[in-house]
Amino acid sequence: MQKKLFSELALSPELLKAVARMGFEEASPIQSEAIPVILGGADMVGQSQTGSGKTAAFAIPAIEKVDASIKAPQVLVLCPTRELAVQVAEEVSKLALFKRGIRELPIYGGQSYERQFRGLQAGAQIIIGTPGRVMDHLERGTLQMDQIRMVILDEADRMLDMGFVDDIRKVLSQAPPERQTIFFSATVPAPIAQLIKSFTRNPVTVKIQAETLTVPQIEQVYYEVDRRNKVEVLCRLIDLNDITCGIIFCATKMMVDELVEHLIARGYSADKLHGDITQAMRERVMAKFRKRGFEFLVATDVAARGLDVDDIEVVFNYDLPHDGEDYVHRIGRTGRAGRSGRAITFVAGREIYKLQHIQRFTQSRIRRERVPSAEEVEEKRRNIFHEALRETLEKGEFKRHDDLIDRLLEQGHSATDIASALIHLLGDEKSSRPGQTGPEPTPQAEPRSFEPRTHSKYDARPPREPRAESRPPSEFAEPRPRREPVRPRAAAGRSRAEAGAPPEHISHEKGMVRLTLNLGRDQNVQPGDIVGVIAGVARIPKEAIGAIRLQARQSLVDIAGEHRALVLKKLNGIKFKGHTLSVQEAKNA
Ligand code: ADP
Ligand code: MG
Repeated sequence: MQKKLFSELALSPELLKAVARMGFEEASPIQSEAIPVILGGADMVGQSQTGSGKTAAFAIPAIEKVDASIKAPQVLVLCPTRELAVQVAEEVSKLALFKRGIRELPIYGGQSYERQFRGLQAGAQIIIGTPGRVMDHLERGTLQMDQIRMVILDEADRMLDMGFVDDIRKVLSQAPPERQTIFFSATVPAPIAQLIKSFTRNPVTVKIQAETLTVPQIEQVYYEVDRRNKVEVLCRLIDLNDITCGIIFCATKMMVDELVEHLIARGYSADKLHGDITQAMRERVMAKFRKRGFEFLVATDVAARGLDVDDIEVVFNYDLPHDGEDYVHRIGRTGRAGRSGRAITFVAGREIYKLQHIQRFTQSRIRRERVPSAEEVEEKRRNIFHEALRETLEKGEFKRHDDLIDRLLEQGHSATDIASALIHLLGDEKSSRPGQTGPEPTPQAEPRSFEPRTHSKYDARPPREPRAESRPPSEFAEPRPRREPVRPRAAAGRSRAEAGAPPEHISHEKGMVRLTLNLGRDQNVQPGDIVGVIAGVARIPKEAIGAIRLQARQSLVDIAGEHRALVLKKLNGIKFKGHTLSVQEAKNA
C-alpha cells in the first residue's frame, strides 16, 4: 500500500491546516486507504497494527461529514475504555480546531451524567463513548440518535472481550438504518464477523498487512529471569540504559501494586494504572505521566489499553503477555509513528515456549540478551557519578568550603583522602539515584549468572533457617535496609573502631568464626556487597552472617561456624568486583 500526502486526500483547507499543525507530514497507510473510502460513503472494516494512526483515519472523514449547522449528534464513536474515549475525543478536538461550530463530547462511566447531559444539550455533534454509558444515555433519552449518520466501532474485538457485544448490538439497532458503519478491529473473531454482517452493507475491507504488524523501529529483546529476581534485573536494566520513561506491564493488579512499591523504595519515581484505580485518579496519573511527572507507569493490560503517550523509551513486559496480540498492543506504546523504541520482555522458566509462540505470531525476531551483572551496573553508576562530579568541577557552580578543607589538609590528610572520605560520606556514590543503594542480594536473589559459581551438591541445598544464637546481635552486621541513609551507620562503625575496644581478629560471638576477605574500603566494598557475595555464592542464609568490619584493604566477617568450610571453599578464587577473592580464617594476631 502506498502512503499519500494529506493534500492528495481531498480534504478541506481547515483539516489540512489542523493536520499540519499536529505535525503529521504524510498520511499513514491505513489513513491513505481508509479516508477516501469513508469520505466516499461506504461502510468499512479496517485492520491495522496498534500505533498506525487509526484514530485520524476515521476522525478526519467523520469531521468532514459533520454538518456544523445541525446541533445534534451526527457521529457516534464507540470505544472499549474511558481512557481511549478521552484520547479519541482529544484527537478529534485537535483535528476539528479550524472547523467552526463542530464540537465533540466524550461520554463514559465514572463521570457525572449531569455534565455529559449538558454537553449533549449544548449540541455536540461527535459523541465518543463507551458502549455501556452510551446505552445508559439512550435509555434515559438524553442521547438523540435520529441525526446520526455515522457509527464507528474502534477496537471492536476489545469491546467484545470486555463483554460489550449486547450493548453494541442495541446501539447499532437504534441508529438510523441509512447511516454509515465503520469497524476497526485488530482481529475479526466470529462474533465480530456476525456484527459486521448484521450491521453493515457491502463493507470495504481495508487491511494493512501483518508485515508491519510490529513496527520495525522497535528493538525487541528478552531476558531469561527467574521470577524472584525480576525486580533486581529490572532495576539493573533501567540503570544500565539510563531509562527515564517507560511503561511496565504486569499480569495482575497485585503485581502492579507490589512493583510500584519496590520501585519507589529503590528511588525511582513510579505510579500505577489498574482496574481498581478510580477514574479521577487514572486521569490524574495519565496527565502526570504525559507531562513526565514520574518515570515509570506500571500497569495491567486492560488499564493501559489504547493509551496514547508519546515518546515512551521502553515498554517492559515484566510479566509475559497472554498472547501475541496483547504483546503487540503493549509494545505498540513505544516507537509510535515512526519513532524508535524498545521492548524488553522477561521470560521465566517454561514461558520461553509462550515467547516462541509470540514470535511466530508477530513474525518478528525477539533477541535474547544476557542479564547484566551487578558489576556492569556498578561501573555504569560510577561513570555517571564521575561525569556529574567532573561537570560540577568544570562549571565551578558550587559553594566553596576552603576553611574546612584547609583544616583537614593542615591535619595532614591528603587531598585524595579527603575527597574519598567525602564520597564515602555521601553514601552510595555509585548510584545516580538518591535513596537507592544498589543491589542487595538475598540468599536466593541472585540468578546463577550474576556471580561465578561452581556446581556441587551444595547448590541444591535450600538455605537453612538460622539458629537463634547465630543471629548477629550487633547492629552494623546486618545489611542495611535500602532507604536508610548510609552516613550515620558508617560513622557509627568508625567510631567504634576508633574506640579501639574489641580485639579485631577473632569473633567473640558464640558459634561464630571470623574470616578475612582480601577486599576492603579501597576496593569500594560495602557491607551489603559482602553479605551479598557470601549469601549468594555459598547459598547460606544471610542471618548466618554476623558482624562485618571494613578496613582499607581487607574486611573481617563473622559467619556461623557451621558454614565456615563451605564459605572458604565457595568463595576462594572467584571474581568479585574485578578482583580475585581470597578468604581465610582470621588468625589471632
Ligand atoms: P492506533 O489507533 O492505530 O493505535 P493512533 O491513532 O492512536 O493509533 O495513533 C498513534 C500515534 O500516531 C498518535 O500519537 C497520533 O497522533 C500519531 N499519528 C497518527 N497519524 C499520524 C501521521 N499521519 N503522522 C504522524 N503521526 C501520526
Ligand atoms: Mg486506536
